[in-house]
Amino acid sequence: MDERLKALKPYVPGEQPQGASYIKLNTNESPFPPSEKVLEAARAQAKDLNLYSDPQAKALCASVAAYYGVRESQVFVGNGSDEVLALIFYGLLRERGVVSSDISYGFYPVFAQLFCIDYKTVEVSEDFSIDARRFAGLKQNIVIANPNAQTGLYLPLSDIESLVCEDKDRIVVVDEAYCDFGGQSAVCMLNEYKNLIVVGTLSKSRQLAGGRVGFAIASEEIAEDLNRIKFCFNPYNLNRMSIAAGKAAFEDIVYFQKTTEAIVENRAYLSQRLESLGFELTQSLANFVLAKKKGISGDEMYKRLKQKGVLVRFLSDEKLKDWVRITVGSKKQIDILLEKINEIFLEDQGIR
Ligand SMILES: *Cc1c(COP(=O)(O)O)cnc(C)c1O
Repeated sequence: MDERLKALKPYVPGEQPQGASYIKLNTNESPFPPSEKVLEAARAQAKDLNLYSDPQAKALCASVAAYYGVRESQVFVGNGSDEVLALIFYGLLRERGVVSSDISYGFYPVFAQLFCIDYKTVEVSEDFSIDARRFAGLKQNIVIANPNAQTGLYLPLSDIESLVCEDKDRIVVVDEAYCDFGGQSAVCMLNEYKNLIVVGTLSKSRQLAGGRVGFAIASEEIAEDLNRIKFCFNPYNLNRMSIAAGKAAFEDIVYFQKTTEAIVENRAYLSQRLESLGFELTQSLANFVLAKKKGISGDEMYKRLKQKGVLVRFLSDEKLKDWVRITVGSKKQIDILLEKINEIFLEDQGIR
């Protein structure tokens, strides 16, 4: 095999146990099922699976555009935002290279390596926050997850704007996978700036992680570039059921609001309970919390919870070795998690 291929370090997704009945709080999926309207829309497409899907995915692009108040021609859709990000890295970020923060989404350096793109990071502050000034003056394109992956910390739009307007030739990609749980989207700045790309997914706030639907919103020129690349690679990147499900998910605003509000409420509940158990938490605006407890490493907490049937995420990053990332689940899931954590504490006190 090619030496370069042998040297590739692939992204390692969180565990997806098939069949086992874990309480699954490790990959930031929604604990709720897709809405009835989404299920109905997907079902209606099943009988036509012998026919190719719409390569333009027009119905989905139109509903994304309507939701965000942009033109349809500004929307690009893909097979999960991972694919959208891959095509952005491949097609748009290569020349100048990429800079991101050292704590962020683990897939960014993997794309950079795969496509031989120069990749640098700036360090987050002691409290894990991103200091936008550290990107100032850098020539590379910028990729920021906002709220940030792993920490859930949100960077105000004024900071994003300062990065976008500093150098109009540099592309700024804002990955808003977690934005619906309390952040404000950067889409409102697209009228003014042509070097901004906002990336989103239906995996976290719209119950479609398994449906694989992601999108980018940018200038018409950038959306056109992304489509040109896609048509060189996989024109039917979204299947019929996913296009229809994604469209219905964007249109079922009532269900979207109900479920995101529930997550925000549950996040407050989980945070408050963990704090009263002595955990330290980041100020997460995402559908997960990042938590640490003095005396137990992240790895140990992860392993002991797994033994008790609860999956959380341990991230091997040196800076995160004391922490675990816990997806905000349903109230019931949270209560089981808390019960298991209590058991661990009792075991450590030698009680029982
Ligand atoms: C989950 C996640 C993605 C990938 O989402 P998919 O649409 O499921 O591929 C991208 N970026 C960040 C920051 C994420 O957390």
